[in-house]
Amino acid sequence: MTTELSTREWHARAAALRYATGHFIDGAHVDSLAKGRFTAVNPATLQPLCEVSAGGAADIDRAVASGRRAFASGVWRRMAPRDRLGVLSRFAGLIQANAERFALLDTLTMGKPIRDMLSIDVPSAVQTFSYFAELSDKIDGAVTATAADAFHYILREPLGVVGCIVPWNYPLLMAAWKVAPALAAGNSVVLKPAEQSPLSALLMAELFVEAGGPPGVFNVVNGLGETVGAALALHNDVNKIAFTGSTEVGKLMLVYAGQSNMKRVALECGGKSPQIFLADLEDLDRAVNYAINGIFGNMGEVCNAGSRLLIDKPIAEAFIARFVELGKTAYRAGDPLDPTTNLGPLVTAGHRARVVSYIERGKRDGARVEFGGDTPALPGSYVNPTLFSRVNNQMTIAREEIFGPVAAAIEVSGITEALQVANDSIYGLAASVWTRDLRTAHTAVRDLEAGVIWVNCFDHGDMTQPFGGYKQSGQGRDKCLESLLSYTQTKSAWIHLG
Ligand code: NAD
Repeated sequence: MTTELSTREWHARAAALRYATGHFIDGAHVDSLAKGRFTAVNPATLQPLCEVSAGGAADIDRAVASGRRAFASGVWRRMAPRDRLGVLSRFAGLIQANAERFALLDTLTMGKPIRDMLSIDVPSAVQTFSYFAELSDKIDGAVTATAADAFHYILREPLGVVGCIVPWNYPLLMAAWKVAPALAAGNSVVLKPAEQSPLSALLMAELFVEAGGPPGVFNVVNGLGETVGAALALHNDVNKIAFTGSTEVGKLMLVYAGQSNMKRVALECGGKSPQIFLADLEDLDRAVNYAINGIFGNMGEVCNAGSRLLIDKPIAEAFIARFVELGKTAYRAGDPLDPTTNLGPLVTAGHRARVVSYIERGKRDGARVEFGGDTPALPGSYVNPTLFSRVNNQMTIAREEIFGPVAAAIEVSGITEALQVANDSIYGLAASVWTRDLRTAHTAVRDLEAGVIWVNCFDHGDMTQPFGGYKQSGQGRDKCLESLLSYTQTKSAWIHLG
């Protein structure tokens, strides 16, 4: 339906779009108690989009109290699991039915091409809610083997109130990865969206109630990270913080937990993912296309972006030449409401300045710009796709997460050096290896220090795949059954039979 709209029609729909700009607490849209505001800016135009309520600690108190009341009442956690499944399934259906509104809200605030919203973010969020909905009535306990004088069973219970703090790069989807398992397990949720993308979370919470979710179970508080995010993570009545964002802020979550009530902390943080292309790979063009999409897709604003291309020396020249040929024109900056655009602006002018400063640093450090390295003549915060060759792994552009469409090609000699360079990073979110040799592939899987490894592909997966990092990329897992269980705790009941 909607993908067939023209750019003009998308603009008309964007102009006609009505949306909430406050918080969602206890089943209702509300303003901040202190009436604070911040401005959401459209990165494609750098013009203000709307004023949004900037919450404070008092708004977090209100939302956490609402979540706690709902939890204590048992209205959600003690609902028959099959009924909870029904609510979450209807919720997934309502997200699908509102695909166009979600697509517009995230595109207008963070600049993602509307076609990516409709083909990736919205369907993936629907799938996430459907998957966890289906698991709602499959959370089992256990009876263990004991001596004859005892009966021992283990219950699995929800944690209580879960605080979810999410980034702006996939606003709807990153929220879904946290909120869906937390709700399916019977918890209450307080979601804090990124200040750059504050709108889609409000629609999400509203639709949960429309689907039959009890008021107070799913709350949203908007505002700045240092105020609202910190207040949530420091709250003594929050049982878990599920965080996705930068490594720097992720570390603060651990501090906040220690400074407050020792709440559980799950962290999905940054990355500098290596893609290893060995000389025996089967199909150079296929590998190059994956390399291009792996770093330029979503403007490079992807935690697992394949930002380091580790290329075996015998094929390095051919690989880079083909990357230049295909990659130079694969992504073109344009209006994100144009359904043919595949490269939107970066999220803010400030983030563009940061990405540009990394590009300048790469040039100064002696890497060679094969293409890009500049910004297009458009009014928004755009950066052109950029390939650096002659990079070594000690350069800043090979070590730090740029979070933009900037690839660093590093030449290596064979699998041993490739693995050593791949693992020489503080990050360990994802990695890939391209080879025809089975033994090499399995050796790479064994030795790569990353939570997700792809062989002869990149960024493939489904809901069964645990997603999360080794090292400073984090210590939680999203998607998958393991994620659901991380929103529960066990209770052991030991019954003396005498
Ligand atoms: P960020 O760390 O700046 O912000 C993330 C969230 O934390 C936002 O909601 C923000 O408001 C909040 N926040 C900021 N400071 C805070 C504080 N002092 N206390 C509490 N909350 C605070 O990250 P970002 O720029 O929004 O997102 C980009 C980062 O997210 C990248 O590093 C990227 O790799 C990472 N990311 C990781 C994954 C993953 O699954 N591993 C997925 C997407 C993004």
